[in-house]
Amino acid sequence: MNLDSNIPEGPLADKWSNHKFNMKLVNPANRRKYNVIVVGSGLAGGAAAASLAEQGYNVSCFCYQDSPRRAHSIAAQGGINAAKNYQNDGDSVRRLFYDTVKGGDYRAREANVYRLAEVSSDIIDQCVAQGVPFAREYGGMLANRSFGGAQVSRTFYARGQTGQQLLLGAYSSLSKQIGLGKVKMYNRHELLDVVKVEGHAKGVIVRNMITGEVSRHAADAVVMATGGYGNVFFLSTNAQGCNVSAAYRAYKRGAGFANPCYTQIHPTCIPVHGDQQSKLTLMSESLRNDGRVWAPKSAEAAKQIREGTLDPNTIVEQERDYFLERKYPSFGNLAPRDISSRAAKEVCDEGRGVASSGLGVFLDFRDAIARDGQAAIAERYGNLFDMYQCITGADPYSTPMMIFPAVHYTMGGLWVDYNLQSSIPGMFVGGEANFSDHGANRLGASALMQGLADGYFVLPYTVGNYLAEEGIAAAGTVTTEHPAFAAVEAEVQARIETLLSVNGTESPRSFHKRLGQIIWDKCGMARDKDGLTGAIEEIQALRKEFWANVRVVGDARSLNPELERAGRVADFLEFGELLCRDALMREESCGGHFRIEHQTSEGEAKRDDENFTFVGVWEYKGDDVDPELHKEDLVYEEVKLATRSYK
Ligand SMILES: Cc1cc2nc3c(=O)[nH]c(=O)nc-3n(C[C@H](O)[C@H](O)[C@H](O)COP(=O)(O)OP(=O)(O)OC[C@H]3O[C@@H](n4cnc5c(N)ncnc54)[C@H](O)[C@@H]3O)c2cc1C
Repeated sequence: MNLDSNIPEGPLADKWSNHKFNMKLVNPANRRKYNVIVVGSGLAGGAAAASLAEQGYNVSCFCYQDSPRRAHSIAAQGGINAAKNYQNDGDSVRRLFYDTVKGGDYRAREANVYRLAEVSSDIIDQCVAQGVPFAREYGGMLANRSFGGAQVSRTFYARGQTGQQLLLGAYSSLSKQIGLGKVKMYNRHELLDVVKVEGHAKGVIVRNMITGEVSRHAADAVVMATGGYGNVFFLSTNAQGCNVSAAYRAYKRGAGFANPCYTQIHPTCIPVHGDQQSKLTLMSESLRNDGRVWAPKSAEAAKQIREGTLDPNTIVEQERDYFLERKYPSFGNLAPRDISSRAAKEVCDEGRGVASSGLGVFLDFRDAIARDGQAAIAERYGNLFDMYQCITGADPYSTPMMIFPAVHYTMGGLWVDYNLQSSIPGMFVGGEANFSDHGANRLGASALMQGLADGYFVLPYTVGNYLAEEGIAAAGTVTTEHPAFAAVEAEVQARIETLLSVNGTESPRSFHKRLGQIIWDKCGMARDKDGLTGAIEEIQALRKEFWANVRVVGDARSLNPELERAGRVADFLEFGELLCRDALMREESCGGHFRIEHQTSEGEAKRDDENFTFVGVWEYKGDDVDPELHKEDLVYEEVKLATRSYK
């Protein structure tokens, strides 16, 4: 597997501009001769499809929702980072770059992260031009707030609905191109496989989710922007539809899968309440600008709160443990997510958890309301407070919110080089679907930044460069008549038929839930060798059981959500094993990957830079064969590797 990262020569700060200049261009009149497939129309895919079409390429864009506006990006709440330094508080491209590398626990590629920080300002300009209603100061300047892992305010936001507003911006650009006929939009179409011709990605096989029709689509390049795989845990803050299938099918066709074990557990989610839940709800990190995280000092008081015999408001200041402020005084409540999540778990492990399950801590706005007034807090976070009250029945203005960590984001994904090209030539990957710029832990408000950087400012250059290098004579030459399409389509059909023919007794959802429980228990916030080894065996057994006993009702010729779910769960059942293998292989702790065997005396993650400063990239070798691990060494020229400290 070729893992050349293709990082351009030259000083870090000049790499991207030099590279842009050195890349080949496609003459505007020739662009209409090329077809590009974009799978996904969230922020990354929507931005890429709109930008490529604006340049003149013919784009086919696919999504499984009924409209691009419903991509999971719509759920993003708190904000998007950019190094504008509007607050004049010491921010710069270099600081955003540094914070991101440090936040990711020194497991990201320097050159990519620097480019991300560099284009971050352009994203804000682009979105403002589209009419995204970012919050503004009284004088008209765009407002900023703080997010975790940073000591500057660089997060742009639209109340607690930033993702929705950004997506509407991208969608309006996309709609313009749909209207002009440059983008053909395929809503309610699910990618079921990728087609390669002579080693290059040349198309996809999709299923129309309404009619069940399976069809072939050919192109000169394929962009995958299919989001993250957090739902492998079953319960997560992700939308129900989020899945790993598109990325996993690409992996099975030869794309390397990088760092699958890097998953992010977000510290502030509404605690699990009951067995029948199928989704968890995030309470945005932005709330930690004003909310203070605490648990009672005494386990007895925590017990009484759990039993409902003690009102948390009556606990006096000296009896409260503001554990993030105590442990990380410099960053306090805005310590990064991995660190804050582990701190909450530690408190609950000590018996000081407060939700009825014992798995919860408080996020308290009492002091902020006393300081700024309820109206000011409502203006900043009103919709989040309403959401909390609707779900829990408790009023967060008068009683502290209860929160607990939950699966939220995945830093792992398809391996890409500096051009965002996967190890399959001609297949590019953007947004949460690639292994991204966040190393082993993503800082808050950096996913939207990365997805839009990829879509608006990186892929439009690098896809063009690939097409130019392939040459104009190659444009549009591969069609769906090529035998490779028929062969892959036949495999897709056979798999659908197999799923429908098992005719067992257990629903796909039930298998998904059991898988999620194994992964959460053994490969969640803390992992160890025995647990991971056991998890791999359990997942293998569960997979066998699935293919022997799954029951998929309905047929393939019409709308069939059970069939869709079964296909996705089948992929999760394979991918879950890969995730655990990766976690087992990485004999260190870094960011969100916490191996119990590798921790400092204070319980912090202990990296092993000598042996693990690499991206772990897995190559599929066959259904009954172990995948092969490849390593891309991470070379740090600008940032000195150091123990991460937020004290
Ligand atoms: C509750 C919540 C709040 C968040 N808040 C923030 C925040 O404030 N700031 C921040 O920076 N980040 C935030 N994030 C993270 C951020 O929202 C996501 O990482 C980001 O939006 C992902 O964008 P994307 O374009 O990569 O993927 P998505 O928006 O998930 O889009 C994926 C697209 O791929 C399509 N797709 C997937 N599989 C297939 C298939 N097989 N066939 C066809 N189409 C397919 C889907 O239809 C969709 O169009 C939040 C995440 C959550 C869950």
